[in-house]
Amino acid sequence: MSPTEELQKREISIKGLPASPGIAMGVATVYKRQQPVVQPTKITADKTDSHLERFNQAKEATIHELQRVRKSTRDQETTEILATQIEIVNDPDLSDHIESYIKEEKYNVGYAVYKAFRNYIELLTKNDNELLKDRIIDIEDMRDRLVQAVQRRTNEPSIPASTIVVTDELTPSDVVKLASQDMKALVMDSGGLTSHTSIIAHSMGITSVVGLQRVCQLIKSGDEIIVDGNEGMVVVRPRDETRELYQQKLREQERRLQEQQKILDKPSQTTDGHKFKLRANLEFEAELPNLKKYQAEGIGLLRTESLYLSQGQMGDHEAQEEFYESVMREVGEDFVAMRLFDAGGDKFYDQPLREDNPFLGWRGIRMLLDERELLREQLEGILRVSGKYPGQIGILVPMLSTMEELDEVEKEIKGITEHLKARDIAVDENIRLGVMVEVPSVAIRAHDFAPRVDFFSIGTNDLTQYTLAVDRGNELISDLYQQTNPAVWTLIDHTIEAANQHEIDVSVCGEIAANPIAAACLVGMGIDDLSMAPASIPDVKNALVQHTFEELQNLADQVREATSNTEIQQMFNEWR
Ligand code: PEP
Ligand code: MG
Repeated sequence: MSPTEELQKREISIKGLPASPGIAMGVATVYKRQQPVVQPTKITADKTDSHLERFNQAKEATIHELQRVRKSTRDQETTEILATQIEIVNDPDLSDHIESYIKEEKYNVGYAVYKAFRNYIELLTKNDNELLKDRIIDIEDMRDRLVQAVQRRTNEPSIPASTIVVTDELTPSDVVKLASQDMKALVMDSGGLTSHTSIIAHSMGITSVVGLQRVCQLIKSGDEIIVDGNEGMVVVRPRDETRELYQQKLREQERRLQEQQKILDKPSQTTDGHKFKLRANLEFEAELPNLKKYQAEGIGLLRTESLYLSQGQMGDHEAQEEFYESVMREVGEDFVAMRLFDAGGDKFYDQPLREDNPFLGWRGIRMLLDERELLREQLEGILRVSGKYPGQIGILVPMLSTMEELDEVEKEIKGITEHLKARDIAVDENIRLGVMVEVPSVAIRAHDFAPRVDFFSIGTNDLTQYTLAVDRGNELISDLYQQTNPAVWTLIDHTIEAANQHEIDVSVCGEIAANPIAAACLVGMGIDDLSMAPASIPDVKNALVQHTFEELQNLADQVREATSNTEIQQMFNEWR
């Protein structure tokens, strides 16, 4: 038996990042994107230019994506593979063939790409050189990526029910689709704790470990596997003792789930009666039942860009209203902060230009102010629904960094309100306006922004990445991505002070709010409105209802004094 074969039979434990809690035991399905489907249909001569352009855009986007992944890896072998893949996509011969199939033979772009790659692969298959034959897998991979890119869609993923998905990378919408096929847990090579895919897996309550780098090579479909989303561990082909240990942990988990219900039924207050609200961060319609299940008191963050992720477009105001209305119907009398479309960064959107630093680029409100029609359609959709639910909806602005951006948003809201009123359409004229405090410029000058808005929502996921200059999705520097770093706490504290001084509401909707001890500290600092993945509500509530407000204030005071993240982590461990 070769060393690799032997390794593939032994128990292996792999450490990754604990993206979503829970223990899952079962059978692995190694998930690879399916081959896209193409048809050899012909196009008319007037369509050739647009098909050529689609090819060029797809080529650019694919190379950009490969370069991005290459930059974020230090692994020599992976770097070499990616370099080869970039070379394939850039191959001038292939491009010439594709262009000629479109121009001369009038094939649609998807089929032109497929045909050129098929010929290339056939040539290599005939070749005796084993090294060249080894490249076929890369070429097929690049063919599929390009075809998907020109078709501007990804294939619908599909897995056997109740298996544990092991994959190199998943898009946020893949997670939602796989969850509906009863995915038991998720194990992924790429991703950081606050990458969008992880956040969604967490909100959907799917036990997940991410950032494993090369797990796909160590696991085969059908392998027995244990995923420990509490500790970020994955055990493959467990020995009997290991299996028994985890079965016991699983029983404990089930017992805790039963206890959860008792906690959820308690009033949201500290032992001495200080009240707080625990709301939900929500994205997809499929998550709506979680509101009742976890007794969320409204939605502190509705990530509306999910419309784009699930449907490939935001849609006009009418299409959006359907989504907003279904949310409002489910939420009852409670409040919903509808965040304007926050695309860019790791949230896919058709970029007009390739950006070297997408997280510092055309994202959130910056993009919306350039794409006014998109902004206006969304404001119209929200405002129309607000007329039916007055006082219950807030508009939340993402990625705000300057006062001028806020001026512009206000102007647009005013304009659309007038436009709707002139047509006798009911609108909540006092609709509440809030901003995400997620760029340090807003936190630092919170005293200037507070008098201009009705509420602040502190987004520690981005606030951390911009304060510490750490890409939130980069697993190579995940140890530096510290939401509990003293610098982040100082900005939170300062924002609360400004909000209190100007008597506006302030909440926290970043992942820090889902950490029970950090949540206790936030309440001690003066936050009484926390928003999180609904599945985190029981643990957070459990931590809060066991203490007096004074105890939480003392914890906050200690955190204010701390000078390092290590000190804060030690303090949290002791508090536990
Ligand atoms: C945040 O940045 O903390 C936040 C909640 O927004 P998102 O994670 O959607 O960027
Ligand atoms: Mg954010």
